[in-house]
Amino acid sequence: MKWKRVIGQSHAKDILIASIRSQHIAHAYCFWGPEGVGKDALALEFARVLNCQEPIETADSIEACDHCRSCLQMNTLQHPNLQLIFSLPATNRVGSNSDESPLLRLSDDQISLIQEQLILKAHNPYHNITIPNATQIRIASIRDVRRSLQLAAPVHHGWRVVIISEADAMTTEAANAFLKTLEEPHQRTTLILTSSRRDLLPETIRSRCQHIHCGTLSEDDIASALIERESLAPDRARIIAALAHGSYARALELANSTEDEDALAEIVLNFLRTLLKPSRYRNELAKLIEQRFAAVDRQHLRVYLRMLEAWLHDANRLVMIGDRANDYLVFQHGAASSAIRRFIAHYPHARLDKAICAIEDAIEAIESNAQIPLTLLTLAVRLRRAIGSTPTKT
Ligand SMILES: [Zn+2]
Repeated sequence: MKWKRVIGQSHAKDILIASIRSQHIAHAYCFWGPEGVGKDALALEFARVLNCQEPIETADSIEACDHCRSCLQMNTLQHPNLQLIFSLPATNRVGSNSDESPLLRLSDDQISLIQEQLILKAHNPYHNITIPNATQIRIASIRDVRRSLQLAAPVHHGWRVVIISEADAMTTEAANAFLKTLEEPHQRTTLILTSSRRDLLPETIRSRCQHIHCGTLSEDDIASALIERESLAPDRARIIAALAHGSYARALELANSTEDEDALAEIVLNFLRTLLKPSRYRNELAKLIEQRFAAVDRQHLRVYLRMLEAWLHDANRLVMIGDRANDYLVFQHGAASSAIRRFIAHYPHARLDKAICAIEDAIEAIESNAQIPLTLLTLAVRLRRAIGSTPTKT
């Protein structure tokens, strides 16, 4: 695999590799696409290869050597040619000079928190830098970029790379200041904006960038990365990959959460069992929704629904192609897996495609802030209709 630190994204890699080989580096890029698919990881690897002192050229790629001084500095995000900009907390410190570096205004605690986060990011480029109350990229950060671009030239004959992570978090003033930076010529410098909400960037900035799309990752790519990088067991990696919806950052969150997937599966299967009860299911269902789901946050609820969706997808695959589906199933072992086989024996006439559609609609409703109990009740009615509430006697 080319640029193996970056999962998937072969199309984006090919464009960047070609631009390095032809030395046609754009003045500014916008790496855009959903959250957690590796936009920052791609930008960091691009910076690493651009600055590597002994790059390895192959027939179809150019790779960082991973041992020269530049590569070692890039590995710790401490390279003089690299500047990584992200949201910082607001400060109310009075008397501070608006021209000074934004870091100087932060408290010691905040600085050490940022250092911790940068170590995590250096160790794992898929780590989301999270600092309390840091929701905006302010003008002071952009002024800092302008100042450093004006002061010095790139070192070691390399390329200066400025990465503005989640650039749509720039305030209006910051965006205006950034626009000026975009308009000034700088030698051997490339500015990379990453964004999962590109529409929020001003058109004046967007139109000056070369856009590179980073799409969602395949379940296979996510599962392999979880096995290789996080040493997850294949069974667990497959289930988490199915729940992550193409985002490796999301997969990491799930892998590190305390909730185990068997318990999760049991919760959603209990929901399914309850709504499929032949009679008097409504009271029980209402109680279950209230006790189990009403207080759950939306992100969690989405995981539950994706779990149910993955499970029904498995059922559908088994119905369609029988045991040939075995290697492609998300749930290959354990209680959830045997429940699938019992389910398809009990409900041979279930319209699983319709059931899956109903779940997708419910996920969409949850994401657009619909009321949780109502969404789940609507889903239950649709699932009951699609699957059939009276099991066939077997
Ligand atoms: Zn190197």
